[in-house]
Amino acid sequence: MPEASALIHDVGYIGLGIMGSAMAANLLKAGLGVTVWNRSPGKADALADRGARVAASPADLARCRPDVICLNVSDTRDVEAVLFGPEGIMAGAAAGLIVVDHSTINPLATQEFAHRLGERGITLLDAPVSGGDVGARQGTLAIMVGGPEDAFARLLPMLRAVGKTITHVGPVGMGQACKACNQVAVACNLMGVCEAIALARGLGLDPQRMIEVVGGGAGASWQLSNLGPKILAGDFRPGFMVDLVLKDLGIVQDVAQRRQLDLAGTQQARAYFQQAKDHHAAGREGTQAMAKAVLP
Ligand code: NAP
Repeated sequence: MPEASALIHDVGYIGLGIMGSAMAANLLKAGLGVTVWNRSPGKADALADRGARVAASPADLARCRPDVICLNVSDTRDVEAVLFGPEGIMAGAAAGLIVVDHSTINPLATQEFAHRLGERGITLLDAPVSGGDVGARQGTLAIMVGGPEDAFARLLPMLRAVGKTITHVGPVGMGQACKACNQVAVACNLMGVCEAIALARGLGLDPQRMIEVVGGGAGASWQLSNLGPKILAGDFRPGFMVDLVLKDLGIVQDVAQRRQLDLAGTQQARAYFQQAKDHHAAGREGTQAMAKAVLP
């Protein structure tokens, strides 16, 4: 248990999109002091009305000397810009700051960022999340954390305000590595569901019955029982968008190549998602829209 003096009181939050706005709201609700910054200023208004302070830039936010700054931006290059850009966190931060990155980005780049920050006495923990917009609003996200254990222990009470299952998975980068593994399992699993539906239809088996029966045995999965019925109903509303899973599988492909891993199934799943985006305009639909590329 961390000392009371080491507890987190003041938090900075950068990136108030779907996930960040909900997570920052939960930090406010937990009674923490919250200062926010978002590239498009309007998105900070709702949080300001609820008591958040608004900084003029990431550097300005860092100059307010929060104990922690959380990031929730889109991709690897965006995290890099917010950390090291001209008005980035590094331009205003002092040694002792902890940065917690909730974005889903490249694990190898994360390790490089941690090294650069470490040279200035700043600690980076990668803490990507799973659970979507609903989990973010309800504070029930699964959070996989990489970084030094003492910093993790200090952050745990704060992370409990935004997540339910919070797991330290290893040194910095391992949170993002775990998230990449999660996306591989999700994508390949969904591909199996789509192909099972294709096969059921091809053989004249009622796909709804197939989902019920397979879902009671060794083929059961979250993808099958949650997204299978949506595919059959033609319900392609997101959930988790095709564009985001393509971003995440791009990260997987990059790190797999660098480690000489083939991951043929994941490549095929990515090709299906790309086809759904390119030929069925499904980029902003839910991942179950992969079925548009798989089913005849
Ligand atoms: P989003 O709604 O599109 O929000 C993205 C946020 O990042 C916005 O605040 C955006 O600012 C900011 N941003 C992007 N590039 C930036 C840059 N170069 N400099 C400064 N700010 C920048 O995305 P989201 O759904 O919240 O997702 C955020 C992260 O969580 C992503 O890495 C995503 O993969 C991950 N994630 C999302 C979900 C989900 O279900 N949505 C689930 C798990 C993980 P502007 O407002 O100015 O555009």
